[in-house]
Amino acid sequence: SKHHGRGCFHFFEDGMVMMQTHSLFINQEIIDGIDNKEFELHYQPIINLQDESVYGYESLIRWNHPTKGLIYPDYFINIAESSGLIVRLGEWIIRQSCEAAAKWPERVRVAVNISAYQLHSPGLVDVIKDALRISQISAERLEIEITESEKLDKSIALPVLQEIRSLGIEIAMDDLGTGYAALDYLLIYPFTRIKIARTLVDKLQQDNASQYLIVMLIQFAHKYNMSVTAEGVETAQQRDILRTIECQNVQGYFFSYPLREREVLDAFAEEVIE
Ligand code: C2E
Repeated sequence: SKHHGRGCFHFFEDGMVMMQTHSLFINQEIIDGIDNKEFELHYQPIINLQDESVYGYESLIRWNHPTKGLIYPDYFINIAESSGLIVRLGEWIIRQSCEAAAKWPERVRVAVNISAYQLHSPGLVDVIKDALRISQISAERLEIEITESEKLDKSIALPVLQEIRSLGIEIAMDDLGTGYAALDYLLIYPFTRIKIARTLVDKLQQDNASQYLIVMLIQFAHKYNMSVTAEGVETAQQRDILRTIECQNVQGYFFSYPLREREVLDAFAEEVIE
């Protein structure tokens, strides 16, 4: 969990018992939240570094809680996973993301986060196929980002990812460079993109070693026909270094915060007028 503080409630620190009771409470709130349409997706632009055009958008879930305000995913995704509710929420996320992309120009892709838990749950492939069929977007415009790859069970995940890939959908390994996102997963699963974690990008300016490491990852990716996105780019200097070392795509507050669906559509409307 990367964004402690935002949306975290203090009694989380008071120990497991409180946390378990609290999780039960939250689970019912998540069920109500789905029914009451309290969840919304925000979309962060993924930028082509060469010309700074928009490659696509990553959809990021937020919870518009009736009394607690806007809650970030680090606060509720884990809870939704431990109860299995992530499967229901995930279906909504996939459908909603494809329907949003259907309103964008065709060259613009949509990237959707899928956790290991979701990947292990039966029915994911059908959910994705249905979302593509209903939204009418082509499979090539959809990219799934696998978070928490260390939790993947190869015997289940590999055939599912192969089937998803065979549909033409792109598959990204999220957060490479943090936690347990091990390098050898790149050799096992049919990834078409690696996403370099913000923690590595953060060190680019102070630290030559992190730059070498990113160069190495980019070289590896390119040799095996994978694209690279650097996450969490916050400064012009980071952008410049990443451009020099031929990183294709970037995301980060330097370019844009995640946007509401309306803001994305407004940006395209302006583009048409220009
Ligand atoms: P992630 O996939 O690594 O997503 C990137 C996170 O970094 C997002 O946080 C984004 O708002 C934030 N970010 C983007 N640019 C910058 C930057 O320049 N600086 C900093 N400090 N942060 C930046 P967010 O939206 O809170 O999401 C956190 C995590 O929750 C995501 O990490 C992802 O693992 C998970 N998540 C988000 N939406 C979904 C979803 O729809 N489904 C699933 N399963 N997980 C999701």
